[in-house]
Amino acid sequence: MGFDVPFIRPVFPSAEVLSVDIAEIVGSNWFTNFGPKEEEFTRAIADYVGSGYSVVTFSNATVGLMAALTCLLGRGDGSQYVIAPSFTFAAGPEAIEWSGYKPLFVDIDASTVQPALADAIAAIDSPEFDIAAILLCNTFGIGNSQIAAWEQLARSAHIPLVIDSAAGFGSTYADGRRVGRAGDCEVFSFHATKPFAIGEGGAVVTRDPGLAIRLKEFTNFGFRDGKGAVALGLNGKLQEISAAIGLRQLAQFDRVLGARHDVLARYMKELALSGVVFPEQIENSSVCFASMLFPDGLARDNVRSNLLAKGVEARAYYSPPVHHQPHFESAARFGGLEVTEDVVSRILSVPVYQDMAEEHIVLILDAIKAGMN
Ligand SMILES: *Cc1c(COP(=O)(O)O)cnc(C)c1O
Repeated sequence: MGFDVPFIRPVFPSAEVLSVDIAEIVGSNWFTNFGPKEEEFTRAIADYVGSGYSVVTFSNATVGLMAALTCLLGRGDGSQYVIAPSFTFAAGPEAIEWSGYKPLFVDIDASTVQPALADAIAAIDSPEFDIAAILLCNTFGIGNSQIAAWEQLARSAHIPLVIDSAAGFGSTYADGRRVGRAGDCEVFSFHATKPFAIGEGGAVVTRDPGLAIRLKEFTNFGFRDGKGAVALGLNGKLQEISAAIGLRQLAQFDRVLGARHDVLARYMKELALSGVVFPEQIENSSVCFASMLFPDGLARDNVRSNLLAKGVEARAYYSPPVHHQPHFESAARFGGLEVTEDVVSRILSVPVYQDMAEEHIVLILDAIKAGMN
């Protein structure tokens, strides 16, 4: 299905640039297992996130989430819960299950579309659920505006706070901290569809160097010091070529972020009086796309058909939310998830590229304004 303006359009280094890296990697005959490119990329990500933090790279963020939960909690026996939103990508709840826990879905706040702190507090206080951890999601890569209160909640409940910041590399929290610096650890995805894209890849960032060592062992079969497996691990390593792409992308990233912010600012300014509402803090995110809430589902569906008719691909993320996906239909939920249901009925996300053509910006704005009338 071809769209003139697809929802995501990854921009990668040119074949010429990549052929230089491939030649270097082939010349070194070192393709994976923590080679020089992976080492340099790990250092570069750590520098980006800021001093005092350790970085472990992964083959993707889903394995990073499994590693984070397993290294912090140990593998579960399926009896305990991990708090998570249903309004997210299925990888988080799936990682919870792979780690031996059950997701307990909590609702979100409509103004931020982020997990609702009050629900997490009530879930932890409820005798009904034995809760092992919180998997907070920085949904759409937007830093949670109450992050300090989430950290406080996890501390006072003596449970880990893992943050799925998959799309959030390059985002900042409202308190000025770079996303990556909160909780026990934060997990990034470098999938081809994220603002910082290398194809398949991810990283876990933590201020705990001991956790970083266990995470790295987890990606390498649980091996330690020539003793073989000392803990249950798997293969989650990042290849050299992927790290090389990451280094190239990082060199361009400030410019890319600036361009993405410019497109978002344009949408926000021109739609300021339209009745469309953007999630709080989206302007401090790396802007994977522009999500917006319409007054009702009818307006959203009108806008979506207008966009489709003009060749623009827009998506109603996250619809269906995870608790409506067949595998998770019987998963536990805290309350009725009414806000999640409401938000999925009237949210729409439209494309943001780093090199977006003016005519496409205008096309999208006109389609939105027309659908609101
Ligand atoms: C993309 C995404 C993931 C999965 O990342 P992979 O690198 O593809 O495994 C997990 N959680 C969220 C919220 C995502 O957006």
